[in-house]
Amino acid sequence: MKILVAVKRVIDYNVKIRVKPDHSDVDLTNVKMAMNPFCEIAVEEAVRLKERGVASEVVAVTVGPKAAQEQLRTALALGADRAIHLETDERVESLAVAKLLAKVVEDEQPGLTILGKQAIDTDNNQTGQMLAALSGLPQGTFASEVVVDGDKLQVTREIDGGLQTVELTLPAIVTTDLRLNEPRYAKLPDIMKAKKKPLDVKTPAEQGVEVGSRVSLLKVTPPPERQGGVKVGSVDELVDKLKNEAKVL
Ligand code: AMP
Repeated sequence: MKILVAVKRVIDYNVKIRVKPDHSDVDLTNVKMAMNPFCEIAVEEAVRLKERGVASEVVAVTVGPKAAQEQLRTALALGADRAIHLETDERVESLAVAKLLAKVVEDEQPGLTILGKQAIDTDNNQTGQMLAALSGLPQGTFASEVVVDGDKLQVTREIDGGLQTVELTLPAIVTTDLRLNEPRYAKLPDIMKAKKKPLDVKTPAEQGVEVGSRVSLLKVTPPPERQGGVKVGSVDELVDKLKNEAKVL
């Protein structure tokens, strides 16, 4: 079985986000970028399925600027066999990403496609669902466990207050939750080997997909600066402040 994994280049989750002075967007100047953490989990799951002999090939795909090839090389170092780069400098919305991925699904016919549940930059949580709809495939979202059994896939899903297990018929789409696995780190020899693995570059136009934006970003506002704390002299004063200042009692 072939597994397709969608990976997105985002700001590294350790970086403190800076907003441009005119609030037009997040400032990406000299900011460390990385693979979206939920996509790392997706790559790890695909590679584990290959190591267990369930999958025969893992293909990583990304939509983004030339620099996004760094994240594809990371996926290759982690164990993906080859990569597809759908290159564009445009700000690509989830629907356009899903359309491009649907085209790749059509061309590659993977048995399983794994995405992150959410990209930590735009927090959309919709690309996997849109891809499932566009491709007409069953979806198991927020997966915390994935078990392949013949042409069936059991997905344990993290839902409010518990877990739900569903069975899908392959081919299918899965989106990863945090507890699915703990991704490995790429080893130096694998990083070197990854440089030689095949990476195919295509444009959205070649794929027949129009990526023009339908949503305008109006402004980005950083969260308010945290105020310093105060020391209270007594429990009574604390209760009074909670009641009359914080108004939480
Ligand atoms: P989102 O719906 O934007 O929160 O993203 C959910 C998941 O969709 C991500 O974790 C990726 O697996 C996939 N995805 C979103 N944007 C891209 C992109 N530009 N390139 C590749 N995969 C993407």
